[in-house]
Amino acid sequence: MMAMREYKLFIDGSLTDASSGATFESVNPFDQSVVARVARAGSEDVHKAVAAAREAFDRGPWPRMSPQERSALLKAVSDKINERSKDLAALEVVDSGSTIRKAKEDVYLSARSMNYFSKLAAIDHSAPIEGLGKPGFSRNVLVREPIGVVAAIIPWNFPLKMAVWKLGPALAAGNTVILKPSEFTPCTAMELASIIQEVGFPKGVINILPGFGHEAGEELVKHPGVDKISFTGSTKVGKHIMALAAGQLKKVTLECGGKSANIVLDDADLELAVDGAMYAIFYHQGQCCEAGSRLLLPRSLAPTFLEKLIAKTRRLRLGDPSDPSTDLGPLVSKSQQERVVGYIEDGKREGARLAIGGGIPKDGLLAKGFFVEPTVFTGVSNTMKIAREEIFGPVLSVIAYESDDEAVALANDSPYGLGAGVWSKDQDRARAVADRLRAGTVWINEWHLISEKAPFGGYKESGIGREFGLEGLYEYMEAKHLHIDELGSREKKTWYDTVVPK
Ligand code: NAD
Repeated sequence: MMAMREYKLFIDGSLTDASSGATFESVNPFDQSVVARVARAGSEDVHKAVAAAREAFDRGPWPRMSPQERSALLKAVSDKINERSKDLAALEVVDSGSTIRKAKEDVYLSARSMNYFSKLAAIDHSAPIEGLGKPGFSRNVLVREPIGVVAAIIPWNFPLKMAVWKLGPALAAGNTVILKPSEFTPCTAMELASIIQEVGFPKGVINILPGFGHEAGEELVKHPGVDKISFTGSTKVGKHIMALAAGQLKKVTLECGGKSANIVLDDADLELAVDGAMYAIFYHQGQCCEAGSRLLLPRSLAPTFLEKLIAKTRRLRLGDPSDPSTDLGPLVSKSQQERVVGYIEDGKREGARLAIGGGIPKDGLLAKGFFVEPTVFTGVSNTMKIAREEIFGPVLSVIAYESDDEAVALANDSPYGLGAGVWSKDQDRARAVADRLRAGTVWINEWHLISEKAPFGGYKESGIGREFGLEGLYEYMEAKHLHIDELGSREKKTWYDTVVPK
């Protein structure tokens, strides 16, 4: 068993208690043991962290360091994540309920992403503006500059990956950052704080404030010293954050919820599509923003498909997430378990058919954890609550359709637009369907593949802005038009004809 850890706030390069002295406990969702006691950031701590980040940006070395120097520090973080991968993965398991299989992959991908962001940091992203001005008249340059102080607020489903996905591009763009991890899963972000100290970042460039959304989170969003909010979390909180940021017209990027449609066409490779549908919804117990939570099946294929899907779902192993043979661990918290069970009750009440699951395991080792059985509802209509709202648990809503046109219409009939998928042996046909889907990521014969190199984000109420790739990097940059006069003489100026007398 892992010893309980203690974590402090990370402000201006130092680890420190909360000004109020307050702490909170992070609990293992598998057995409810305390994983860590953590300093709980409040309003005064937010002020200190913002002051440190402002100083590091306005007067400190960070924006003035060469891109190569910044890149080297980010690369060093990537290397340290790799060095400490075993400990980080084990910690993620006990803090979040992630299976060890997923946690190992998360740590590997965190290091890989940070390595990619380190490469982006080394590039000068400014460029001449083509087609404007001509030699002897003017030169025009698009200069990309950091925005300033970024507040990054992240959820609990991929704690380390989310921290890296915010810190990497924000820092690569030359900003300074205050990161607020989720109150449910602060541990691996706090391990990053010690990595950041080790590799020798200038103080104040990165500050990490564990704490609660309505306290530290909201203070950060409202703070006049913060220039940009980068938020990943629920659509409900995203809307609230956007409203709070409006007063100052703060820049916001919002990565929010989803209700992604997974469309199986009638010529799909059946075995592959069944496995894909399970991966899409049950990976990390369904706690993925882009989970394939609506499965759209052609009516003719549905009985055969469902028979296979349910038989395989029955074989999924719930268990200790640190055991490599476990397929599904617990949900992150008691409140999340209750929320998911509430949706299952809604589904039954609305007349959907519970084909498998729906309960909470009561026996043995599982009874103490926040488990929910993998659950499949059939006979779902797209107007039901379980088809419209994000459940964020292992609950699949299966909807039958008659034609490709109807599948597209059903998929797009959602307030969300984060992910979608199409399964077919005919790439052209799948592509034709994919092109009509209103979602930020569409997979053909795949799911969950998100890369730090490709834009990721939501249409509609799934978000604003994009993460990853150059689109993601530019969300952390201002675009400045620099006009450089080359006329070189007073006489050649055209504006004498307008207002200024010659
Ligand atoms: P959440 O919205 O409850 O919390 C997210 C973060 O916001 C946490 O750090 C929380 O402390 C903070 N927060 C809460 N209230 C706040 C407030 N008033 N002001 C400032 N900060 C506040 O979400 P969650 O339950 O942690 O995570 C699950 C949600 O995240 C799901 O809806 C999921 O779809 C979404 N998510 C989206 C993406 C994406 O990239 N689109 C990725 C992962 C998760």
